[in-house]
Amino acid sequence: MADYPVLHGIVLSSMPVGEYDRRLSILTKERGRISAFAKGAQKPKSALVAAAQPFVTGAFTVIEGRSSNTMIRAEVNDYFTELRSDLAKTCYGLYFCELAEFATEEFIDESETLQLLYAALRALSKGIPEPGLARVVYEIKITYTRGEGPQVNECVRCHDRKGPFVFHVPSGGCLCAGCAGELFSEEGRKAYELRTQAVASGYFNLDDSTWYALRVIASTQPSRLFSFSVSENVLAELQSVAAAWYAEHVDHTFRSAEMLQTLQDTTVFEDITGKPPV
Ligand SMILES: [Zn+2]
Repeated sequence: MADYPVLHGIVLSSMPVGEYDRRLSILTKERGRISAFAKGAQKPKSALVAAAQPFVTGAFTVIEGRSSNTMIRAEVNDYFTELRSDLAKTCYGLYFCELAEFATEEFIDESETLQLLYAALRALSKGIPEPGLARVVYEIKITYTRGEGPQVNECVRCHDRKGPFVFHVPSGGCLCAGCAGELFSEEGRKAYELRTQAVASGYFNLDDSTWYALRVIASTQPSRLFSFSVSENVLAELQSVAAAWYAEHVDHTFRSAEMLQTLQDTTVFEDITGKPPV
C-alpha cells in the first residue's frame, strides 16, 4: 500500500454507482480536483462508508489508473458532522462544495481554493460569521483563486488609483469618474443607488465600507478571511455585487444554490435558524 499516492483534500461530492460503489469528486492538494471510485462504499460494513461523503477532509490513498482512479483507504481529519445535523448548514456546505467543483480543474495547483473551502466549511460549522456573510465572502474570494476576480484597486481602463470609483460589473471592477462618464454624474449616481437598478445595469455606487470589504476579501489569505464582520448595508451591497458578477461572468446554475433558495423560501428554514426567510 505504501506505493500508492496519498492525496490530501476534501470530498466535494459523492454519487452512488450501481448497488455498491460510489463515485467521488475530491479536491486535493497534490492533483487538483480528481474523481475516484470508492468500491463497496454503499455497503454498510465497508470501511469507506463514512469517508465517502461530502465535506470529509483527510488523507486518501488512491490507485491512479489511466482512465479512472480508485480510493482504497481514507484517514479522516474532519467529518464536519455538525454541518450534517443542520439542514440549512448542509445546504450551504453543499453549495460551497459545488462551487469549488465548478471552479477547479484536474492536475492544476488548487491549494488556495482547497484552503478557502476548508476555511469556509469551518466558518459554517462554527456559525461565525453568519452563513449569509460566509457565503458572499466565499463567492467573491473564489473568483480570485480562479484568477478571475474583480479589479478593486485601480480603474480597469486607465489604471488611476486615486478614485473615487464606481464598480462596473461588465468592465470587470473599478471605473474612475473619467472612464465611467455619465454613469458617474450626480444624476447617474443617484439613479443607480437604487440597488435593483444597479443589478440590472451592472453599475454600483458602493459605500466606502463595501470598497474596504472587497479589498480585504481580494487581498487576505483564505485561512484569515472569515474573521471580520460587516454592517447590514455592506452585506447587502456585497450580495448585490456578487449576484451581478456571477450572472455576468460565471453564468452557471448551481443546483445546491437553488435548493438553498427553496429552503430559505419555506418556513422550515425559519424553524432551523430562528431567522425569518430572506
Ligand atoms: Zn479610468
